[in-house]
Amino acid sequence: MLKILTNPDPILRRKSQPVADVSAKEIQELIPQMMEIMLRKDGVGLAAPQVGKNIRLIVIHLKDETLALINPKIIKKSIVKEWGEEGCLSVPGQYGEVKRCKKITVKYLDAKGKPHQVIAEGLFARVVQHENDHLDGILFIDKARNITEIE
Ligand SMILES: [Zn+2]
Repeated sequence: MLKILTNPDPILRRKSQPVADVSAKEIQELIPQMMEIMLRKDGVGLAAPQVGKNIRLIVIHLKDETLALINPKIIKKSIVKEWGEEGCLSVPGQYGEVKRCKKITVKYLDAKGKPHQVIAEGLFARVVQHENDHLDGILFIDKARNITEIE
């Protein structure tokens, strides 16, 4: 069973490496395991470094759909940004407002290695930006205002 690392674990601060082979056994096993832990913890997203793997892989759960994004790359960002509340499974008990692009275009490979390019807006865009930050060692608390602590 995977364990979620919490701040200040140094693994969360490392820059993650691209996945070289999507079909590798390690990746194919990791994706469903990450989805399982994300759903169990009621998360809307989870990045591989949060489970101790410094590789560019994220999973997202929105509107009853789960999605794996491998080697995601945000290739277009809206000029318009908006503030919204965020939390993170790796920063338990803390919430804060983060300014994110309202709309982005993200390129990625799915679990079968097939390339996709999608336009994400609203919460979907926010989650992709939050998880993508994890791949670069960035936590939402680095960018947040009005951080509150909830026991
Ligand atoms: Zn997070």
